[in-house]
Amino acid sequence: MKIGGFNKLTTQDFPGNLACIIFTNGCNFDCSYCYNRDLVDNKAEEISEEEIFSYLNQRKKMLDGVVISGGEPTIWNDLIPFMEKVKELGLKIKLDTNGYRPDVLKEIIDKNLVDYIAMDIKTLFNEYYKIINKKIDTDKLIESIKLIKASKVDHEFRTTIIKGFHTVEDLDKIVDVIDGSPYYLQNFRMEDTVNDKKLFGFTEEELNEIKEHFKNKPSVTVRYV
Ligand code: SF4
Repeated sequence: MKIGGFNKLTTQDFPGNLACIIFTNGCNFDCSYCYNRDLVDNKAEEISEEEIFSYLNQRKKMLDGVVISGGEPTIWNDLIPFMEKVKELGLKIKLDTNGYRPDVLKEIIDKNLVDYIAMDIKTLFNEYYKIINKKIDTDKLIESIKLIKASKVDHEFRTTIIKGFHTVEDLDKIVDVIDGSPYYLQNFRMEDTVNDKKLFGFTEEELNEIKEHFKNKPSVTVRYV
């Protein structure tokens, strides 16, 4: 597994837990709005597993867990052995994923290697190609959603919302698919690393309108930043 980023401490990324985050290189999607191009394009300088485990061994009593993000972690065949090693230290794991490897997710869930899963749902399934710039088998995404929902693992689904791509009607349909699971709408923000400079997020006023639209759906949360 190629690791291209490592934040030693976060209170924000693993709900209720003090954690570190590792970012794996590489991805099976190619999203126009991706902030992590250096990871996706395999340009991020590699950080060794030895370095990560040296830190985890020193700090395992202080940390609650490890977030594994990317890129897309599930593309790596040695993700599961890596997670097993983290678990042997008594640490919890949160996995961020785009959901395109349900086979890997199933094994991870079956082996009790994960404590929290955050899965991106980019948009309506028939429109995925517009955001990820690839034609994919969207049945795999549906399979992952079903697996996650059927598991006892804490989880959330989330969509980065982009003006001109996402309408409230689209979001209503996604809310129906995930059927009561926690769902976060994260506003797109432009970064230097984003390839498509023509993308926009929603204004605060528009976000307020989206929030108002979902006021009777407590599972839906609008994140402004
Ligand atoms: S799935 Fe995530 S990491 Fe991969 S290209 Fe899209 S935004 Fe970037």
